[in-house]
Amino acid sequence: MAKYIFVTGGVLSSLGKGVASASIGTLLEARRYRINMQKFDPYLNVDPGTLTPFQHGEVFVTRDGAETDLDLGHYERFTSLTLNRNSNTTSGQVYYEVIERERRGDFLGKTVQVVPHITEEIKRRFRRLARGNAEIVIAEIGGTVGDIESLPFLESIRQFRQEVGAENICCIHLTYIPYIQAAGELKSKPTQHSVERLREIGIQPDIILCRTEKPLNQDLREKISLYCNVPFQAVIEARDTDCIYEIPLTFHQEKLDQVILRKLRLRPRVSHLKEWGKLIDQLRNPEHEVEIAMVGKYVKLQDSYKSLDEALRHGGLASRTRVKLRKVDSESLRRDDELERSLAGVDGILVPGGFGTRGVEGMVAAIRYAREKRIPFFGICLGLQVAVIEFARNVCGLDRANSTEFDPQTPHPVITLMDSQRQVQAMGGTMRLGGYPCVLAAGSLSRRCYGVPRIVERHRHRYEVNPHLFGRLQEKGLQASGRSPDRKLVEIVELKDHPFFVATQFHPEFQSRLASPHPIFSAFIAAALRQRLENRPPSA
Ligand code: GLN
Repeated sequence: MAKYIFVTGGVLSSLGKGVASASIGTLLEARRYRINMQKFDPYLNVDPGTLTPFQHGEVFVTRDGAETDLDLGHYERFTSLTLNRNSNTTSGQVYYEVIERERRGDFLGKTVQVVPHITEEIKRRFRRLARGNAEIVIAEIGGTVGDIESLPFLESIRQFRQEVGAENICCIHLTYIPYIQAAGELKSKPTQHSVERLREIGIQPDIILCRTEKPLNQDLREKISLYCNVPFQAVIEARDTDCIYEIPLTFHQEKLDQVILRKLRLRPRVSHLKEWGKLIDQLRNPEHEVEIAMVGKYVKLQDSYKSLDEALRHGGLASRTRVKLRKVDSESLRRDDELERSLAGVDGILVPGGFGTRGVEGMVAAIRYAREKRIPFFGICLGLQVAVIEFARNVCGLDRANSTEFDPQTPHPVITLMDSQRQVQAMGGTMRLGGYPCVLAAGSLSRRCYGVPRIVERHRHRYEVNPHLFGRLQEKGLQASGRSPDRKLVEIVELKDHPFFVATQFHPEFQSRLASPHPIFSAFIAAALRQRLENRPPSA
């Protein structure tokens, strides 16, 4: 039977529970345990796909095409897992399932209730993840203990512990230890209160993970151990860091993996965390730096392009380059002087995905700037679509070329709704989603980047390059370097006579990991570095 780790959060949100859970995954995989991971979100949306980036960070797309919480991105980047639609459960899904069964008559006339019906469904989902060959399942519970919404999940953990036995479960509670400047002290009281809330529900945590700005001293650790009723070794410091990938190393120093394995009565197999440590050394000691402008519409929101931020960072590893990001709100690029001011001196320009017309003209201007000034350019999803629009307008002379998403009346719809989308009415989960194969053109830059003729990448879009107009663009030099195997869809475009001009209809950032950076990101950063060294050779 698999063992279970439940990660809950207390005191306040945004403590980095997702990264903490992912780091636990890294630690256990480093000890060669087969793991699986899962996120439970207490909100009633069926998935985050219909949520605006203003309410929720990035929507992470799994290979099998589920729109999921961005924490799944951390799980994939920190481990070797490829997650799927079972890896993220929301309250919305749980209620949906139970109500559907009620309508079918499955409950034989009984009153349907949170306990036991909702909790049974949640426990079924805990167990579902252990199928296959996982030895340890890590389940993160979203929200903060004390929220009304997360109660059914916590109640399910309590019941589950009874069912499978305490030795098969490890409850880890992440809390916050504030530093009070005036007193010059770290305070444990909020943690005590939060653990009390958990105990009221019937859960005694086994490990307290303490997010803190300052090191925890012996006294404070003893106090937390005493009041929270956990062994001294189970009080683990989780200090702030500017590099999230270092967290597994600091947890290891705190012996978190040993404490977990002891609690679960598992053998402490040898840790191979050194391999991870080497990557962190490379990340920590770059030889170069490049500055990349990310010109998008949600750039002001911290988490809206999470996977992209990380993929850029990974992309610098091969060329030992630190990537500095300049986030530029595309809406601010209305005039030429603004364009010059915002983009001057950057070594590369990236236009990410997005929806709706706001800010699109600024992206057109930024892409023109990159094309004409021969600055390395990388477009992703909407970034590809706008690159096609820019090329149609400024190279092919189709002045009013546009996407029908932004101008339904355009005389030159170079981007149009996909045929498969024409009948779609419902918004949830209906885009072209998840992994699709793509065939790369011989001799193209993309083909050289990947080093293989056929790839699978993840998508999330409704619009595509209009095949009826693409011929005119091709004549002028825009190459379709990646297509769907039936050749109907253009998946990658690139320009030959440019240092680096590549745009993809898919989202390569979802497949980049610290241990295996994505080849297009690596090539983009390498091109940006060449650009920088040419323009500003290092002084002797
Ligand atoms: N809005 C565009 C579409 O739906 C691009 C989507 C995206 O960038 N993810 O096709």
